[in-house]
Amino acid sequence: MSQVSMEKIVAFCKRRGFVYQSSEIYGGIRSSYDYGPLGVEMKRNIKDEWWRSMVHARDDVVGIDAAIIMHPRVWAASGHLDTFNDMLVESRTSGRRYRADHLIEEATGIDAEGMSAEEMTRIIEEDERVKDPVDGGRDFAPVRPFNLMFETYTGPVKSPENIAYLRPETAQGIFTNFKNVLDTSRVKVPFGIAQIGKSFRNEITPGNFIFRTREFEQMEMEFFVEPGTDEEWHERWIEERWRWYLGLGLKEENLRRYEHPKEKLSHYSKRTVDIEYNFPFAGWSELEGIANRTDYDLRRHAEFSGANLTYFDTAKNESYVPYVVEPAAGPDRIMLALLVDAYHEEEVRGEQRVVLKLHPRVAPTKAAVFPLTRKEPVAKVARELYEDLKGDYRIFYDESGAIGRRYRRQDEAGTPFCITVDFDTLDDRQVTIRDRDSMEQERIPIKAVRDRLKDLISS
Ligand code: ATP
Repeated sequence: MSQVSMEKIVAFCKRRGFVYQSSEIYGGIRSSYDYGPLGVEMKRNIKDEWWRSMVHARDDVVGIDAAIIMHPRVWAASGHLDTFNDMLVESRTSGRRYRADHLIEEATGIDAEGMSAEEMTRIIEEDERVKDPVDGGRDFAPVRPFNLMFETYTGPVKSPENIAYLRPETAQGIFTNFKNVLDTSRVKVPFGIAQIGKSFRNEITPGNFIFRTREFEQMEMEFFVEPGTDEEWHERWIEERWRWYLGLGLKEENLRRYEHPKEKLSHYSKRTVDIEYNFPFAGWSELEGIANRTDYDLRRHAEFSGANLTYFDTAKNESYVPYVVEPAAGPDRIMLALLVDAYHEEEVRGEQRVVLKLHPRVAPTKAAVFPLTRKEPVAKVARELYEDLKGDYRIFYDESGAIGRRYRRQDEAGTPFCITVDFDTLDDRQVTIRDRDSMEQERIPIKAVRDRLKDLISS
């Protein structure tokens, strides 16, 4: 397990422009973060990698981009209005609110997830170990369910008929478009619909930096299959997704699969397996859930909307409601895992260096170009090389400071390759490429840099 502390990662992310506290000049707002120049590149790379593997590299998945505000009936059909709750308990001594299951589990070790409000209230009342973490008080209001959906109003009138919700998951925009996609693109079961976008949950206790926030992004894919083939497809997707994380460069020893116990499955799920990462500050935590959602969602939407959401199988000459296998991941959490996994402090020839050993595919900047000196014509050759390379990826040009310092800055930013133009370049038209991790340098013709970089990044 990586040993980097949360404080270190948060400070590092701010210092290097990965992630800032939102509205910082106003004192910040809890649980909201902004992605800076390096962070936005990295998160985009994660999303692009997901889209590439889920949509572009396959021929059985198409994409959509649905609205965040949907018809409120969607959330009645999906079950979110009734069941998308966390159990909330308020301490009467400090006025603080807590997730009751977390409070119980931390104090007693009892796994309270999935218990009813009454059961939790009883444990809190009877078990002396449960105390308000702030002031040690034992005076709690009864536990009550708290719906995590953010409410808003559409139009100028704030009346109950105008209540709308910010989507708490992207999945429902896929189910409600099932028929549209079926009718307008040439898909045949088994096929999937993928979407990346913002979701919102009014989490009672957000925390662990970008791991759990109230506004976050999701990358979800609903894969529609013939009933009876769902268990096999579920297995295939678990494997597929596992390999994706390894391909991003996460260390296998920091990843594991977690099988949800049967009695704790969500109301729609027949089986769910999470892919978890071993965070140094939070232990094993979910990056992605892969669920067999059965035909629950399509059936419910058919029932609530009156639409026909069956699939007609021309080969078999029969109609059925497809089952759904859903890999649902979060790029914010994945980014945190990648940062933690990649962060290293090393000693090199008596000097400390911080290096982010990110896979080139997710690294925010793919290469930096340095002229050894600011003087012409060395600088001119370097600028020309930079102009030639930029466009396909983010390339950084830096001519200030000693070359060692420039390397160090790029090591910290996770830039996998530094290309230096020196005095010899003027004669031999060659440059050096330095590898971030091994720090080895290779000399190659300027003309070959573009192709070499492409190979290095995609390998
Ligand atoms: P958790 O149990 O951690 O609350 P969940 O099981 O409710 O997560 P899902 O509903 O399965 O999460 O959502 C799929 C993915 O969306 C999660 O694996 C995670 O990567 C991401 N996600 C969910 N909630 C948040 C959040 N509050 N902040 C950041 N990412 C989130």
